[in-house]
Amino acid sequence: MTVQYARKETDSRRRWIGGVVALAALGGLAVWRPLARTDDAVHDFVGPTMGATFSVSVDEDLSPEERDRVRAVIDERLDLVNRLMSTYDPGSEISRFNAHESTEPFPVSQEVLEVLEQARDVSERSNGAFDVTVAPLVDAWGFGPRDRTGPIPDEEDLAALLQIVGYAGLEVDLAAGTVFKSNPGMTIDLSAIAQGYGADAVASGLSDLGLTSFLVDVGGEIRAVGARRTGRGWRVGIERPDGLGEVWGTVELADEGIATSGDYRNYFELDGVRYAHIIDPRTGQPIHSRGASVSVLHTSASLADAWATALCVLGPVDGYELARREGIAALFITLVEGRLEFRVTPAMEGRVAEETAGR
Ligand code: AMP
Ligand code: MG
Repeated sequence: MTVQYARKETDSRRRWIGGVVALAALGGLAVWRPLARTDDAVHDFVGPTMGATFSVSVDEDLSPEERDRVRAVIDERLDLVNRLMSTYDPGSEISRFNAHESTEPFPVSQEVLEVLEQARDVSERSNGAFDVTVAPLVDAWGFGPRDRTGPIPDEEDLAALLQIVGYAGLEVDLAAGTVFKSNPGMTIDLSAIAQGYGADAVASGLSDLGLTSFLVDVGGEIRAVGARRTGRGWRVGIERPDGLGEVWGTVELADEGIATSGDYRNYFELDGVRYAHIIDPRTGQPIHSRGASVSVLHTSASLADAWATALCVLGPVDGYELARREGIAALFITLVEGRLEFRVTPAMEGRVAEETAGR
C-alpha cells in the first residue's frame, strides 16, 4: 500500500518510529531491543500503510494456514481504511467528499460515519481543539498531500481559510448514512484519527478470527487485546519528544489503546520558529512548542488518537485541565531547558513508568 496520510513518503521513517512503539514487535532498532519480547513464539506481521508502518504481534500458536488468514485479515482491514479515509488517494471516499463542492448530502460508508461521530464527540468536548475540518489549514501550511510552494500563510490568508473551518459546519445524518457541509468549500482530514481507527479495525478483525492475545500498531497508534502468555499485559515504549527516537518510558496495556501526538514528529523551522503539523483550528496557527508530546490511553485506539491530538493543541496547562475534567488518562511530556518534565492525569496515575536505567 502506498497511500499516504499525514506524511510524505520521504518523511515516513520518522513517523513510524514516532510516538508509542510496540516494543514487542520492533526488534530492528537497537534502542528497543532490551525491552523486546523474551519468547520467540510471537508471530509478527509488518508492512507499510497510511504513509507509515503497521506491525501486529500475536502471542498465540498459529498454524501456517492460520498465519495466512491473519495476514489476509490485516491487509483487508487496512486496505479498507485506506480506500475510505486517505486524503492522498483522490479516489478515496474522503477525497471524493472533499471534491464534492456542494451542500447536498453525500452518502458515505458506515466506517466513515463512525469515525466522523467519534471526531465530533472529541471536537465538542475539546471545544474545537480537535477538528477534522482543519484540512484547508493543514494544506496551507504544507502538511497535506501537496507540498507548500509559496510563502507561509499570513493573517489575512488564515482569516479567509478559517471561514471554511469548523466542525459545527459538518452534519452527519446517521439514519440516512450521509454527510453534508454547511459551506461547499469545506474539506476534511482524518489523519489525526485514522491510524487509531485502523488499529481498532484490525483488532476487531482479529478478534472475529478468534484470536485473544495480540498487539496492533498502526503508525505508532496502538491497540492491545488480551494478556501475554506470561500473564502480563503488552508492554510498549513511549518515545522521548526531543526527536532523538529514544524511549522515555513504558506502559503495560490491558484491553486498550494508546496514541501519542507531538510537535517533534513532523515540522519545519523558519527564522527560529518551529511550525509543527498539529494546527490550532481556532487560530489557524501550527503549535509552536519545541519538544512536547501527549500520550493517551483509551479503550478505543481511535479515541486515544483523537484525544492525543486535541490535548497537544491545548498544551500541558489547558490540555491537562481538560483531560483531568474528562477523566482521560493522559501523559504530558515537555522539554524544558533541555530536561524532560512530565505530568499525568489522575486516570493515568500508576500506569506509566519512566525508564531511568542507563541515565
Ligand atoms: P496526530 O499525529 O494524530 O496528532 O495527527 C496529526 C495530523 O492531523 C496532522 O498531520 C494533520 O493532518 C491533522 N491535524 C492537524 N491539526 C489537527 C487538529 N487540530 N484536529 C484534527 N486534525 C488535525
Ligand atoms: Mg491523533
